[in-house]
Amino acid sequence: MNSVVLHTALWLLVWVVASSAAARAPEGAYIVKRGDTISSIARRCDLPPAELAERNGLSRNSHVYAGQRLIIPGRVTAPAPASSVRAAARVSLPYSVKRAIALAPVRPGRWQYIVVHHSGVDSGTVKGMDHYHREVRHMENGLAYDFVIGNGSGMADGEIAVSRRWTLQLDGGHLASEAQNKIALGICLVGNFDEHSPTRKEMESLRALVVALMARCNLTPSAVRTHQQINIVHTRCPGTKFPAKAFLDSLPRPRR
Ligand SMILES: [Zn+2]
Repeated sequence: MNSVVLHTALWLLVWVVASSAAARAPEGAYIVKRGDTISSIARRCDLPPAELAERNGLSRNSHVYAGQRLIIPGRVTAPAPASSVRAAARVSLPYSVKRAIALAPVRPGRWQYIVVHHSGVDSGTVKGMDHYHREVRHMENGLAYDFVIGNGSGMADGEIAVSRRWTLQLDGGHLASEAQNKIALGICLVGNFDEHSPTRKEMESLRALVVALMARCNLTPSAVRTHQQINIVHTRCPGTKFPAKAFLDSLPRPRR
């Protein structure tokens, strides 16, 4: 899919999700006071007069009298504007992922880098990648990464899978240097980012995950790298369309 179409589709999706998440406040009641009109009550309640009238079986110009009880329709509270940065910052990890991050026996100082990869293929599951790394690449510990983030094809969009490399705190298998594999956590986003951008949900999950791992492993944003930035041999991973600079810039800096 070309990226403009993809982007439009994503924004539309975000809009639909945000709209359906809009909440309607419970209805209220109001006892009319002398001098009130449908319009004046509607104005005070921040409602369209027609909506207030209709809910009470009246017309906009109906006379209301002191002591009359009116139903005040619940207002639809508008969703917050879908500013991507703020939206991303609000995303929190599922409980199961938080728990896995907290419970792993992380040795202080063990991890010095968090490295971002793409899978290079459009669809992927943990099981499929594990099989590939174990059987084809002959890695005895299977899946080379600590975490995998789905793109909606194979795994849910933005879904975070925790690998046994993380839960058992095994060395990684995602970098060319064995020395680096001992000190670098690996996160793989499903997709080929030479062809298209990661999904919005993948980026939101990636950010939330990286922020949690920085806290757990006592790391600053300077520890977060792309595969290309850290590897000792050249690689394009995680692809030319991965927004590396924007992502790294979005990470919270330590307070001085
Ligand atoms: Zn890579």
